Amino acid sequence: MRSQKVSRKPKRERAAIVGLVAGRARRLEAERSIDELAGLVQAAGGEVVLRMLQERPKPDPATFLGSGKVSMLAASCAETGADVVVFDNELTPAQLRQIEEEVGRKILDRTQLILDIFARRARTREGKLQVELAQLKYLLPRLVGAGDALSRLGGGIGTRGPGETKLETDRRRIRVRIHALGDEIERVRQRRAQLRERRQKASVPTVALVGYTNAGKTTLFNALTGAGAEASDALFVTLDPLVRQVKLPDSRELLLSDTVGFIDRLPHALIAAFRATLEEVAEADLVLHVIDASAPDRDRRMTAVRQVLEEVGATEVPMIEVYNKCDDISGDERRRLQDQEPGAICISALKRSGVDELLQTITARLSLDVRRVTLTFNPDDPVDRELIARLYRNARVVVHETRDGRVLIEADIARRSLASFLR
Ligand code: GDP
Ligand code: MG
Repeated sequence: MRSQKVSRKPKRERAAIVGLVAGRARRLEAERSIDELAGLVQAAGGEVVLRMLQERPKPDPATFLGSGKVSMLAASCAETGADVVVFDNELTPAQLRQIEEEVGRKILDRTQLILDIFARRARTREGKLQVELAQLKYLLPRLVGAGDALSRLGGGIGTRGPGETKLETDRRRIRVRIHALGDEIERVRQRRAQLRERRQKASVPTVALVGYTNAGKTTLFNALTGAGAEASDALFVTLDPLVRQVKLPDSRELLLSDTVGFIDRLPHALIAAFRATLEEVAEADLVLHVIDASAPDRDRRMTAVRQVLEEVGATEVPMIEVYNKCDDISGDERRRLQDQEPGAICISALKRSGVDELLQTITARLSLDVRRVTLTFNPDDPVDRELIARLYRNARVVVHETRDGRVLIEADIARRSLASFLR
């Protein structure tokens, strides 16, 4: 079986990256895309030693680049000592085989590279399972392709060699594994849905961090959760490391979730795999869109993120734009950003500046949709006492009095959690 991953050897692998320019007008676009590919190679632990952009109106069906260019690529790879060649586009199984044969090196396409990076970065059990599933699903048709090619040779003697037998076993093994993964993901997913339901019952608002890869989501996640790190209610914390509790300045709590990073042209196999994770974004009460303010192609990345949000149906969720890495841009640039998006917030998650202001904005946004209610409780009833405690955690208590042995509480409660208090 062909090796499908950038290897995990400690030595940095040397990579050649190759892109196709479909006509002069698209040159800039192709250059930008291959720059990003270089970044992805680095993220996968490789080192770019060769870059090649080939201009051609249409990919060659057999060799993608055209056979002359493929020989050139082989020579350049030998010269620079490249271990692996990464194509910026998706290759057909036939092209992949043909190029691999001529170049004599491991060939990956953009999708496989991205899948490899996600495989390394996945932190939750569900995430790991989903990436493996996406990898195998991507691999399977490529193996099937090889089988078809062999059988087209006419079948019979000489074509049913050990190669095809091995292929059959590989295919069967992969199908079995895909099936097992599917079952396991379903179990994890149900567990996750139960957790989500429990959170909703507890009426703790959830805030999801989204953003382009490398925008600083995880840094911000740590800055925000580190601030109020004491985990009084460890229920969600231990079971899902991506969701953690944050205490707001008004002493209410919220749950913050860190999500996968978005990238341009996120392979569809991967979006499908992460749909369940991304659906959590659609169900959040608030989305924080973390933006790397210092990225030269900032606007394009923002658009890419908004597109994914649209795909998972998260456009209805209230959103705060958070310009991160503001320590890395000039004061002028910061003012320009602020003028452009008056609702946005400029912070530095790394230096922890602006984080308090962000927390206040989150608080304000979450309490926009509240209703003031007056409730009375029996202080001797344990159920009522638990409700009072929950009010303090999840609502803003304005008045708390005892009258004739009853506790009277006036509070602002988020509309969505009203039902759980008004039994
Ligand atoms: P994620 O992919 O969105 O989770 O991004 P990370 O949190 O992993 O951060 C990516 C890189 O950006 C890391 O090297 C961080 O140290 C860096 N980074 C994060 N926040 C800031 C910031 O406010 N300022 C600067 N200068 N760098 C930051
Ligand atoms: Mg991250």
